[in-house]
Amino acid sequence: MLLAQPCFCWGFFAHRKINYYAVFLLPPEMILLYKPYADFLTEHAVDPDKRRYAVPAEGPRHYIDIDRYGIYPYDSLPRKWNDAVARYSEDSLNAHGIGPWWIQTMLYRLTKAFKEKNQAMILKYSAEIGHYIADAHVPLHASSNHNGQYTNQKGIHGFWESRIPELLADKEWDFFIGKAEYIRNPLDFTWRRILENAAAADTVLKFEKELAKSFPQDQKYSFEEHNAVVMRQYSSAYTIKYNEIMKGMVERRMRQSIFAVASFWYTAWVNAGQPDLSELSHKEFSAEDLREFENLNIAWKNAATNSREHD
Ligand SMILES: [Zn+2]
Repeated sequence: MLLAQPCFCWGFFAHRKINYYAVFLLPPEMILLYKPYADFLTEHAVDPDKRRYAVPAEGPRHYIDIDRYGIYPYDSLPRKWNDAVARYSEDSLNAHGIGPWWIQTMLYRLTKAFKEKNQAMILKYSAEIGHYIADAHVPLHASSNHNGQYTNQKGIHGFWESRIPELLADKEWDFFIGKAEYIRNPLDFTWRRILENAAAADTVLKFEKELAKSFPQDQKYSFEEHNAVVMRQYSSAYTIKYNEIMKGMVERRMRQSIFAVASFWYTAWVNAGQPDLSELSHKEFSAEDLREFENLNIAWKNAATNSREHD
């Protein structure tokens, strides 16, 4: 039996790292809450991906197929949600992904949680907004050809966002990144990242295509056995070569993600009036929250089992 690993936005590995490293960019007034809960923020960085199995509306929040809206810089697509709805209708926006707008919704929720001094919700929304912001830094999350399915490059999505960081992040990359900064216009900030993605998506696809042509075909993949099942993955040599010709794009995008996540957390806190985080209420999650966490895990595990059976 031959399996390819299921994969989504930044693999689980990278999402967890991004939320974790973001904690250390915060000012001391925030570190005092975020550091003791770094494990929670790390673990729950992937909840939004797990939720895709439980909630149909979840999928479009992770991407935007910006190339569906004409050509760069896609001026025909209004940047504000209400204007975009007026022009295209909510249904058709949902059909092509609503990533950049969903980040603003999450920012609103996080800011409200800070104003209410609700610790459980501050942590939950911090973990989750971190996920969506990180997704907004992945070039293939802004392209309708998101897994190379139109160009015979299936698998490139997980290659870029899972295989490369899993092979190189711990060994070779540097995540010491200054400090979080206040973001004056979060919507503008988000759209700048999306447009960078749109410009980079072509490079991501084109360079892999060229490498595939010049690289010995029988060395492109490697096979590893896990629990008596053989898994196919891009070989280390192929991964390293691809990372090299892209001149560190994945590391750069990961660093920018970490900076952006910390800066959105910081911005929410400032906009809420910089509440004292040593005096919060709702320190425990409600029974309902705990049930939701549990259900996400069940949905994820079932889906993982099913996808294995279908392969
Ligand atoms: Zn995602």
